[in-house]
Order: sequence, then structure tokens, then C-alpha cells
Amino acid sequence: MRHHGDAHHPGHPEPHHHWRDQRRVLVTGGAGFLGSHLCDRLLRDGHDVLCVDNFYTGTKRNIAHLLGHPRFEVLRHDVTFPLYVEVDDIYNLACPASPIHYQHDPVQTTKTSVHGAINMLGLAKRVGARILQASTSEVYGDPHEHPQTERYWGNVNPIGVRSCYDEGKRCAETLFMDYRRQHGLDVKVARIFNTYGPRMHPNDGRVVSNFIMQALAGDPITLYGDGRQTRAFCYVDDLIDALVRLMNTPPDFSGPVNVGNPVEMSMLDIARQIVACTRSTSELVFHPLPQDDPTQRCPDITLAREVLGWEPRTALEVGLARTVEYFRQQFFLAPMPVPA
Ligand code: NAD
Ligand code: UDP
Ligand code: UDP
Repeated sequence: MRHHGDAHHPGHPEPHHHWRDQRRVLVTGGAGFLGSHLCDRLLRDGHDVLCVDNFYTGTKRNIAHLLGHPRFEVLRHDVTFPLYVEVDDIYNLACPASPIHYQHDPVQTTKTSVHGAINMLGLAKRVGARILQASTSEVYGDPHEHPQTERYWGNVNPIGVRSCYDEGKRCAETLFMDYRRQHGLDVKVARIFNTYGPRMHPNDGRVVSNFIMQALAGDPITLYGDGRQTRAFCYVDDLIDALVRLMNTPPDFSGPVNVGNPVEMSMLDIARQIVACTRSTSELVFHPLPQDDPTQRCPDITLAREVLGWEPRTALEVGLARTVEYFRQQFFLAPMPVPA
């Protein structure tokens, strides 16, 4: 049976499922950019999905197409408070992810990462669930090793403006590994590198959403610094596939494992690609570089290739075209008020 939410993903017909394959899955941060795509995927795979979100940076619009789906449920809840539910798998994604959002209330950001991890680990321990943490390439800070492998310990400022996020995520990794060592939990840690796609927040200040919104509006494209800092961008569908594969690894594998697209490029490169893709007339302008902005970042995904049998498949032009189309539809063709 197909549901209206599946219409966005014509490439994935719903397979036949045996009831024993069906799992009760909790997705925290399920109304966010990545979380909503993960809910889509898990429902398509036949699972029962509980989306928990406090709508801090996520929106009901991201999951509106799933309301009414018989295997989907949503609960407004803040993960810094205890949660008592019965589930088999937990994907812990709750946390603001863009620098503008996580620096807006930095104390809450650390609480979400740390108290949120403790509560979700306590829940996993009580019910014997598998639990996956959405960690980040930010644990590597401004890296001195390039590209970054999982063995690199990172170069993180503990007292800067990005620390609430970076150190919060590092502490969450510590908690995950200690619940594994101390309580024998089946934990998985994914270190997610920059990801883009439909349902990115239009005003979250991340580079892909910023540049696309600016290009579509014909506004200047704002490059920070000289635009030669690098990142590597993974399309959301590829990323979600990696998370699902990681959850399904044997209990003796916890990672951490890098997930991202190892195609490194400068912000100037991505600006030019987005201008070309949107056929925009926007000019490029330069602004000061934010504090602690990493100068280069690119994942070494050897481990993901070996253990998950995974690598990104979506070329940047293809992913960008889909993302541009989403932004055009949502914010330019049928103009909706852009959320603050
Ligand atoms: P997002 O901001 O779109 O989603 C985060 C979701 O968590 C939102 O729906 C938000 O409302 C919810 N949330 C925040 N605090 C909460 C709380 N205390 N209780 C309950 N819900 C809460 O961001 P995203 O890009 O979808 O990121 C999802 C996860 O992936 C985050 O943990 C982020 O750190 C991680 N990550 C994302 C990227 C990326 O490039 N998108 C890269 C590395 C890591
Ligand atoms: N917790 C939760 N849901 C549960 C079980 C625990 O939210 O189903 C929370 C609980 O509030 C606790 C945290 O998870 O603060 C850590 O639980 P754990 O059992 O590891 O530690 P303890 O209860 O001993 O502090
Ligand atoms: N950036 C930029 N212009 C923008 C937004 C971001 O040049 O309008 C740069 C930013 O300084 C950083 C890179 O793009 O070097 C990626 O920024 P983003 O916030 O998307 O992710 P992160 O820094 O967390 O990797």
C-alpha cells in the first residue's frame, strides 16, 4: 500500500513486509530536516514510527504529509526531560544543527545534547533498544588532519561560540560509549558531515540554504571570508540510507563512523554552482569570517564503505537541482511566509 507521503519518492516502492520485521522506532528531532526524511524512510520500510520533537527548529510542515499515516505518531516533547515509551530502535537526532540556531540559546543546546543523550540512553537501557546518535563532523573542530578519519581526536575550542554544539556532541559521544561499556547497550554513533536537500530551513544560515534563497531572490550571494574554506556536501537521501545501514550493523559495532560525501569543494565553488543551477543574476559579495569557522573539512569514508557497504550516489548537480526545486516551490512560486 502506498501513502501520499511516498509520492515524493517514486524510486522506492513499498516492499512486502513480514510483521516480525516491523519495529517500533523512535526518532527524536523527527520534525527537522534530517529527521523528517528519516521518518519517511522508516515508514516506507514498514516500521512503526514515533516522532518526538519540541519544534524548536523543526516544523510541522516537514511532517504534515505523514499526519494520518496509520503507522506514524508525533509527540511534542523536549528530550531534556525524561520520556517513557516502549520502542525497539531509537534515532537520537534532536538538536539544533545550524550555527545560527544552536548559538541562539547555547545553554539549551548543551542541555539538549547532554541531558537529551542521558534520557534517551536511560530509555534504551530500560527497554533494551538499539540507539543511534546523530553526531557531527564538528567533533573534529578546526581539524589538523585532512581528510578526517574516525581515529582523529579533533581540535576543538572548549570555550568559543561553537563550543555549546561541538562539546555537547563530544560529551554525547562519551555517554554513548560509556553506556556501551558500563551497561552493554547496543549503541551506534554516526559522525555526520554537511548534508543538504529539501526541507532545509530557509533561514538557518547554512551555506546551501542561504545561497539558494539568495540566488532565487536575485540577492547578493554572501561569502564569508575569502570563500576558499572547504566543505563536502552529501545529499539527504544518501545520508539517511547510511543511518539506517548503521543501525542495522551487528551489536559489536558501534563506530563512530563518518558519513558524508568525500567530494571537497570551496564555498566559492558551491556559490558558482548554485548561481549556475538557478540561472541567477546574483553577484558574489564578501563578509567577515565567523569565529572558529573551520578552514577545511572532508570526510574519509573508508570505514563506512567497509562496514556499511555504503557511499553517496547522488551527484551534486542532481541533489542541488532537487533542492532548488523545493525552495522554488515552497518560497517563490506559491509564496508562503518565510518562517523567522
Ligand atoms: P534540524 O534543526 O532541522 O533538526 C533538529 C530537530 O530537533 C528539530 O526538529 C528541532 O525542533 C528538534 N529539537 C531541538 N531541540 C530539541 C529538544 N530539546 N527536544 C526535542 N526536539 C528538539 O537539524 P538537522 O539538520 O535535521 O539535524 C539533525 C541532527 O543531525 C542534529 O542532531 C544535528 O546535530 C545532526 N547533524 C546534522 C548535519 C547536517 O548537515 N544537517 C550535520 C551534522 C550533524
Ligand atoms: N529515563 C527516561 N526514560 C526511561 C528510563 C530513563 O527518560 O524509560 C531517564 C531517567 O530520567 C534518567 C536517565 O534516563 O535520568 C538515565 O537513566 P539511567 O537508568 O541510566 O540512570 P538513573 O536512572 O540511574 O539516573
Ligand atoms: N558560509 C558562507 N556564506 C553563508 C553561509 C555560510 O560563506 O551565507 C560559509 C561558512 O562560513 C562556512 C561554510 O560556509 O565556512 C559552511 O557553513 P555552514 O554554516 O553551512 O556549516 P558548518 O560551518 O557548520 O560546516
